Amino acid sequence: MKRNILVVLLFWLLILQACGQNKENQTAKKMGKNFEVKKTEQEWQHCLSPEQYRVLRLKGTERAFTGKFYKHNEKGIYICAGCGNELFKSETKFDSGTGWPSYYDAIPGAVVLETDYSYGMIRTEVLCAKCGGHLGHVFDDGPQPTGLRYCINSVSLDFKKQ
Ligand code: FE
Repeated sequence: MKRNILVVLLFWLLILQACGQNKENQTAKKMGKNFEVKKTEQEWQHCLSPEQYRVLRLKGTERAFTGKFYKHNEKGIYICAGCGNELFKSETKFDSGTGWPSYYDAIPGAVVLETDYSYGMIRTEVLCAKCGGHLGHVFDDGPQPTGLRYCINSVSLDFKKQ
């Protein structure tokens, strides 16, 4: 009897593990295709910090109010920490009060949008158009002239001062 339970438990563990691996492969596959900058997961791990890798490549989120660009107000251009692609101009940055750097517009062609169904929500994910790195999400409660709020992880960004 005990042995049967053990076999069933082992079986479920194997299935769960297989599902997890499958999901990981799908993410890697999706992120690796059709982007100009292509790197293996190993190469990304090598050139990014663990926190950058977690957010950019594994679609993580940095803790609110902790990012280096949340209260950053210099003039310049915010670029992708993964590939250097120019993403947001400082003129479009505004204080959203959310704890993440927010912009009402992206530089034309710099980002691509995808529907994100994770965590039981329907959101629009913002990816770097060059490397596919996860930047954050975009919402439609931003200020004029666009009415958009690009809610971006600081750790996905670097800054070029003007
Ligand atoms: Fe990039």
